[in-house]
Amino acid sequence: MQLECDATIALAYKSPLQRARIISESWFSQNVYCLACESDGVTRTKPNTRATDFLCETCGQRYELKTFTKRPPKSLVDGAYAALISRINESTAPTLCLLGRSESWHVQSLTAIHSSFLTPWVIEQRPPLSRHARRAGWTGCNIRLDRIPPDGEIAIIDDGICLPKSEVRARFRCFLPLARLSADQRGWTTLTLSIIRTLGRSKFTLPDLYMREQQFAEAYPGNRHIQAKIRQQLQVLRDLGILSFEGGGRYLLLT
Ligand SMILES: [Zn+2]
Repeated sequence: MQLECDATIALAYKSPLQRARIISESWFSQNVYCLACESDGVTRTKPNTRATDFLCETCGQRYELKTFTKRPPKSLVDGAYAALISRINESTAPTLCLLGRSESWHVQSLTAIHSSFLTPWVIEQRPPLSRHARRAGWTGCNIRLDRIPPDGEIAIIDDGICLPKSEVRARFRCFLPLARLSADQRGWTTLTLSIIRTLGRSKFTLPDLYMREQQFAEAYPGNRHIQAKIRQQLQVLRDLGILSFEGGGRYLLLT
């Protein structure tokens, strides 16, 4: 991967936002490979494609590119709320690629937020634009990065170092089976993993998770079967190879 972007291609554009988009998209299309299959390239989609900037023509994995010099810590501003939610419900949500760059357009990091981790709990609806706005009533969204467990963030370039392609793909593919579940089911799985990670240890018990029932209730208000749901998610996570059952309600994280 070439880590220097060609900033000269955008000299004709005045708007800094437009320049950044042209430079970063050009770099991405020339350097990035598909994370889900063996394809060595992704294709730019037509302008204004709903919640997608790039597509792998081999496997259909979608990518949306976000570029910044300083990553927002908690949430990312994204496009239309309804478009992204419908993509999530259809299991065609994009993988978000967060490109960190220097002022002089040197690529410092590239992190993929796995499409399987984009669930309704992670997408926050913004207030509609006021009736005085040019697009009155339009409703955007925020992507709550703080609600995504570290498993959902896959480093491709870290601190200026390109990680081995095979490792990156292996980490990405581990969570591809979740795409076959409904958005609601995936939401439970990724929330459970997120809460397990906050325990901060590799061994835990069922009561450790039951004690966090309030956190599950916050994401799924009104659900009266939270403990049963937690047990079901532990099985899904075991089948993904994330944890093992040690017997007697004890679990061990494997990754
Ligand atoms: Zn692919």
